[in-house]
Amino acid sequence: MCYKIRMVRVRFAPSPTGFLHIGSARTAIFNWLYARHAGGKFLLRIEDTDLKRSESRFLDEILEDLRWLGLDWDEEPLFQSRRFDVYRAKAEELVAAGRAYKDGAAVLFKVEPGRTIAYDDLVHGRISVESETIKDQVIIKSDGSPTYNFCCVIDDAHLGITHILRGDDHISNTPKQIIFYEAFGLTPPRFGHMPLILGTDGAKLSKRHGGVSVEEYKREGFLPEALANYLICLGWTPPEGREIMPPAEAVKLFEIEEMNDVQAKFDIQKLRWLNAEYIMKSANERLVPLVKPYLEAAGLPAAGVKDAYLGRVLDLYKVRLKTLSEFPAQTDCFFREDFAVDEEGRKHLDSPESRVYLAALADRLAGLTDFSHAAIEDVFRRFAEERGLAKVGPIVHPARMAVSGKTKGAGLFEMMEVLGRERVVARMRRAANA
Ligand code: GLU
Repeated sequence: MCYKIRMVRVRFAPSPTGFLHIGSARTAIFNWLYARHAGGKFLLRIEDTDLKRSESRFLDEILEDLRWLGLDWDEEPLFQSRRFDVYRAKAEELVAAGRAYKDGAAVLFKVEPGRTIAYDDLVHGRISVESETIKDQVIIKSDGSPTYNFCCVIDDAHLGITHILRGDDHISNTPKQIIFYEAFGLTPPRFGHMPLILGTDGAKLSKRHGGVSVEEYKREGFLPEALANYLICLGWTPPEGREIMPPAEAVKLFEIEEMNDVQAKFDIQKLRWLNAEYIMKSANERLVPLVKPYLEAAGLPAAGVKDAYLGRVLDLYKVRLKTLSEFPAQTDCFFREDFAVDEEGRKHLDSPESRVYLAALADRLAGLTDFSHAAIEDVFRRFAEERGLAKVGPIVHPARMAVSGKTKGAGLFEMMEVLGRERVVARMRRAANA
């Protein structure tokens, strides 16, 4: 016997009637993963048969989000709206063969009773349905437009799709699609249905769980690999329970047989943790252009700031960010003099003692030629010793508030080094005399 080994061909088939949902993004990622793992092809099909609800702005955003996630596709996308003639001709073929009939302008497919339609789902195993439970299927509506299940089969066959990975919400469509393949004398592809993504409370994913579209996460300052990594782990458990699984690595290790058959829960805290891991490891050359728009949106003058300076601020803060949108609020003191001041930290500035310390320290720092964090730290230590202070707290807290307005943040001496002597001294004196 001779088995013909077919090259894997998978597709992602978005409907451009809204933004890219996080669940659809996961579907796209898994199809892409499988294609790239198997050395096959990943195709796009635009399911825009609903001419009223489909909009080009949604399509543009979907394609942009897919690219942003790092997905690349092969061949030109196929648009269903350009193939109405093909679907109508195929419907006529079925009518001529006695498999479908007309009801006014509509065309319906005759479903034979007394049959079991069964297939081995790649995720859930054997699934079977009795044909009695399926009524005759409308394939062309009375307005002449084709229905989803019908176009789907014609196009998947046309594109030579070998595996269909999609959400569990399509489980009820699959037997209907299988009978169309049979009617055309075609072998159906393999199907795999991925359990839907729920919120941590078990409810359908919604805005209150942290957002439903890719675009919202992009805007929040999530890195694409972090989101992709997270979505990958919502459908597959990587070997040895690894949690950091960049898409490029997953391509090598992913096995379609290992896809999870339990419902996935979307945990925004876990995603934030992952994002922090990726931010921490990213080079400044990459992060600098990404944080600039957030600075500008926060009214901080990013345009005039040198990349090298932004890079130094990032060196201090990229270990402290869960999302890039958090950057301006944590770092405003590096970009303006009227930075925000934490209310709970004001007590560190209010005591007469703090003012005395700040003034004295400012004088010492003003005379420091090497304004490195080590040298600054030395000044603080010596000052504490001379004053017989058991701890540096009474001088560090006021100084931190004076230069940054915050009780928390990067290391004080590192911050001072980046701010530079002039600004540090001026701010400490300002606080001392307030
Ligand atoms: N347009 C359908 C959807 O977005 C595609 C389903 C399929 O993959 O067959 O759900």
